[in-house]
Amino acid sequence: MASRTHGETIVNAVTSPLAFTLSGTAVPVDADDMLAEICEHFVDHAEVLRDGDHVTLSSEIGEAHISKVSEQLDIRLACPTADMLSMTRAIIAEHLFMFAGDDPLTLEWADKPKPARLANLSEITIVSAENVTPRMRRLVVACEDTARFDTADGLHVRLLMPPKGRDPVWPVTLADGRIGWPEGEDEISVRYYTIRSLDVERRQMTIDFVLHEDCGKRMPGAEFGLNAQEGDRAGLLGPGAGGMPVAKDLILAGDETALPAIARMIELASPDMKVHAIIEVADRAEEQALACASQNFSIEWLHRNGAEASTAGLLEPAVAARLEGLGPDTFVWVACEKTEAQAIRARLKAHGLDRSRMSSITYWRRGYTD
Ligand SMILES: Cc1cc2nc3c(=O)[nH]c(=O)nc-3n(C[C@H](O)[C@H](O)[C@H](O)COP(=O)(O)OP(=O)(O)OC[C@H]3O[C@@H](n4cnc5c(N)ncnc54)[C@H](O)[C@@H]3O)c2cc1C
Repeated sequence: MASRTHGETIVNAVTSPLAFTLSGTAVPVDADDMLAEICEHFVDHAEVLRDGDHVTLSSEIGEAHISKVSEQLDIRLACPTADMLSMTRAIIAEHLFMFAGDDPLTLEWADKPKPARLANLSEITIVSAENVTPRMRRLVVACEDTARFDTADGLHVRLLMPPKGRDPVWPVTLADGRIGWPEGEDEISVRYYTIRSLDVERRQMTIDFVLHEDCGKRMPGAEFGLNAQEGDRAGLLGPGAGGMPVAKDLILAGDETALPAIARMIELASPDMKVHAIIEVADRAEEQALACASQNFSIEWLHRNGAEASTAGLLEPAVAARLEGLGPDTFVWVACEKTEAQAIRARLKAHGLDRSRMSSITYWRRGYTD
């Protein structure tokens, strides 16, 4: 399952054993409606299988089996790690309450979580900041549990940005599995980012921030990247879904928000893989030198040359141009602005690629704050 409407769309089949399990029961006003909402919503983010009153959602962070039994929903979760189980419970809980809206909903889990700091939350402290290119700023952050993020299965995090100058108040797990977020003066902003690199020995990581166009709105992510100073504190939730696709041949495409993920995947590729990257950036000054262990690595930079991000229409034709003669072992991975991601997904589907061979993910939405 993905945790939000436009974030972690799930691509790969679950490969690890699902050793961590948990059951729960939800009693909504209308169990049929709730089951239908679950199917409709999660289809964009997970493999959704419905068989009568039973629904299975599968993603790389695990499985959720939800069955309607006597007007209530029996829920069974199975995940590869305890962190993923706790994340999956939070995702399911948040969504069920969102679908219920103002209607009452009772949700209980077999092991009722005690209000506690989230299991997959790590604190970070800014060590330094520098521009990699004119519009990409890199923060080096210190993190005691850097090793937790050293996985090819989850490259992304939710960055929790507390109000500047205040001691952070972190979210907690509530008894119904939802996340209790700090409010008022302690409210924190949350945005998705990619761990660009890790140094487990030094307990440091880097995160690259696109200093994107000013749309006249608050943009906490880009502002944090721009203004963060040595000693500032923030939090990371994750690592989250969205890992390195399992394939011998990769086509990786996206705009600059996907550049950190694409760069990381290029670095993770083994020498026997074939990798082609298509990256759209503002202009030549935004290109970065990216190293790959594979001899069979190529990269195509697309320049908007003055057009606003997501409006140049460069990515879709560039991806489409690679589709003819695509081998059966090729996985096409795309991440960019929502409208473009949807158009590319439709194009890939029309070409006969299903979820096992492609993903086209929304990384941001023009005109919408996250
Ligand atoms: C899994 C995942 C991983 C990601 N990794 C990274 C990463 O490593 N580095 C990174 O920089 N981003 C990354 N992103 C994208 C980032 O989360 C979004 O760009 C996010 O909207 C930035 O938040 P903000 O607070 O700056 O802007 P928001 O508050 O979300 O939006 C404010 C305004 O800015 C606009 N806007 C947002 N992003 C852009 C953009 N890129 N170009 C032009 N206008 C924009 C919005 O349309 C809106 O009008 C990732 C997204 C996902 C889902």
